[in-house]
Amino acid sequence: MTASDTPDTGDTGGPGGPGDTGDPAGAPNVPNVDPAEIDKFDPLASRWWDPQGELKPLHQVNPLRLDFIAKHANIAGARALDVGCGGGILTEALAQRGAEATGIDASAAPLEVARLHALESGAQVDYRRITAEELAAQRRGDWDIVCCLELLEHVPDPARLVAACANLARPGGALFFSTLNRNPKAFLLAIVGAEYVLGLLPRGTHRYEKLIRPSELGRWCERAGATVRDLTGLHYNPLRDSFALGPGVDVNYIAYATAADAAV
Ligand code: SAH
Repeated sequence: MTASDTPDTGDTGGPGGPGDTGDPAGAPNVPNVDPAEIDKFDPLASRWWDPQGELKPLHQVNPLRLDFIAKHANIAGARALDVGCGGGILTEALAQRGAEATGIDASAAPLEVARLHALESGAQVDYRRITAEELAAQRRGDWDIVCCLELLEHVPDPARLVAACANLARPGGALFFSTLNRNPKAFLLAIVGAEYVLGLLPRGTHRYEKLIRPSELGRWCERAGATVRDLTGLHYNPLRDSFALGPGVDVNYIAYATAADAAV
């Protein structure tokens, strides 16, 4: 156990939040993809690998989230799946650490950039345009590590995506989720501060009501037979323009969970 295993979840109550019932995307045949969200990332594709571009925060947090993954899972030799991989910042890093890496995304433009970048860098990554739900129907239980970072808050039915990730992992496999908490502090720092004051991310990247409390993530994991084992905050320091991992998950956080030992 670390200090971050028993976090202040920042759950301050209040209405709003992603619905996990009654959503039309909850129907198995409806793709769990919000076209408006795809439209947000497509225009950024050409700048995906610019460390000073619109997606700079992803570059800044990447070494930290990779450390978090490495703390809980053996990356070298693992079959690692990156769900919602975008331009492949994490996917390439997993491959460089020796994983047999696959990146999937619902959108064509970032995947094209990811493929081109891998050609340049020499990273061995298999990129596919497919949703997690579709892949889970084809290759259930096939991955040692399933990462789903900065995606849950962009899909119509995050509970269903969590379940798909749990199904993609082998029994006992490692699951990693990162997202943003939903409370007034997160609204001020992650939306008003990051998008409107500091301009760290394009305006409109995140919608408050789509943000996810750790308790909700925990419940969705449980329903999928998975167990959350570590929750850690990702804290931004505006004076240093840098991120650090640490206790306190009231704004950005990353979670480690394990899939059920036997199929549920
Ligand atoms: N996980 C990456 C990129 C996060 S940006 C990282 O953290 O570095 C979110 C990505 O999710 C975009 O590339 C977008 O195209 C993709 N996306 C949005 N909805 C999706 C869905 N339903 N299934 C898979 N990918 C999706």
